[in-house]
Amino acid sequence: SLEELKIIRKKNLNPGLTTYYSEPIAFHQGYKQWLFDLNGKRYLDMFGGICTVSVGHSHPRITEALTEQVQTLGHVSNIYFNPKIHEYAERLADKLPGKLKVIYFVNSGSEANDLAILMARAYTNNFDIVSLRNGYHGMSYQTMGINSNGHYKYPVPHVPGFYKTMNPDVFRGIWGGNKCRDSPVQPDRNCQCKDEICRANEKYVDQFKDLFLYDIPKKKLAAFFAESIQGVGGTVQYPKDFIKKAYEVVKEHGGLFVSDEVQTGFGRTGDHFWGFEGHCIQPDIVTMAKGIGNGFPLGAVATTPEIAQSLTKASHFNTFGGNPLACTVGITVLDIIEDENLQQNSKTVGTHLLLELEKLKTEFPVIGDVRGKGLMIGVELVSKESTTEPLDLSKIMKIWEYCRDNGVILGKGGIYGNVFRIKPPMCISREDADFTVSILKDALTKFK
Ligand code: PMP
Repeated sequence: SLEELKIIRKKNLNPGLTTYYSEPIAFHQGYKQWLFDLNGKRYLDMFGGICTVSVGHSHPRITEALTEQVQTLGHVSNIYFNPKIHEYAERLADKLPGKLKVIYFVNSGSEANDLAILMARAYTNNFDIVSLRNGYHGMSYQTMGINSNGHYKYPVPHVPGFYKTMNPDVFRGIWGGNKCRDSPVQPDRNCQCKDEICRANEKYVDQFKDLFLYDIPKKKLAAFFAESIQGVGGTVQYPKDFIKKAYEVVKEHGGLFVSDEVQTGFGRTGDHFWGFEGHCIQPDIVTMAKGIGNGFPLGAVATTPEIAQSLTKASHFNTFGGNPLACTVGITVLDIIEDENLQQNSKTVGTHLLLELEKLKTEFPVIGDVRGKGLMIGVELVSKESTTEPLDLSKIMKIWEYCRDNGVILGKGGIYGNVFRIKPPMCISREDADFTVSILKDALTKFK
């Protein structure tokens, strides 16, 4: 029972493990987009285990492939050849554009970004790493250096060599920029950046350039890290063209562009397989995890042959990366995304959901912003119309827990914890999207 679990948790699990919801919930079963609690109650999982369960819980094809592989070979470590790591590397490389054809497998997003830091430094012989405020890239010591401080409480000393710049957030950023972002709910999708608000976007780029004027010596940049859409930070989208312009600045200063696709990869954003494709850039390094393994610990770093070569002068190793079980899952995930047309589903269902949420926004002034692309959606709650002041956290909790009690699991995030994050398995249907909106509407009505 839940009560028994609570006792064990208190005794044997580190209290530093944060749990969602004021009253915990225990899931013991999942199927596709559904989760079941200990009493067998069914929930629609609109958070997918933090944007991770990409093709659905306990997908029968994964179960079958994994069972077969575990009966054949589970682990030898990557110091030996095994057919699966080769097969998967080839399949993954096929999904990546240009020269991004060389893969290193790891077990998580933090590890992937750690390795990307090392590769960028080894290749450029530079040390400085730049990232955006409000970004999240992992919880290793190094990746905490590229995260925003707001994402961890303990005051770790500033990690040398890491710089953060202004977050170009079109809703909350100090220069605004509300009209130009790449989302179906964009008020003016054809904006030509001629009006006052859009010109504000240029200021974010200027701020980015300032970093090289004041902080980082010329040509001393190792890499710039950015998520294609900020995930943990609250589904934050940048002004249109910001990433493209930042990319040019990074190149001017001799750095590599690292695209963190841990959340935005694998068809999640609908239009493209990778989030960076929406920004029209070709990164030098791509890091991935979460959806790549549908819940299996799996991550990867993809780069060009030249950059990959630089790792031979450093030393890097991990025991599990590319093990046959993980690679089997990875291959099957790719198959399922293709066979079940999940990227397209992300786009159609995601766009429908975004438009329905946007309608809800016109009815409820506490919805300050609806944003995102495909099935990567954020709903930001504010205290009153036309403000960015977050809605009172106790109210947010009530709305969020009402949704849970009525069968819809939503994520929550953003620096103030006032953004509902929607990143379900990509197999959800239009009916699931409508159900989510109706429950959220009930919650907002009840706690008006
Ligand atoms: N990058 C991004 C964009 C993430 O969202 C996360 C995890 N939330 C990570 C990296 C770190 O991944 P992991 O928790 O697997 O280490």
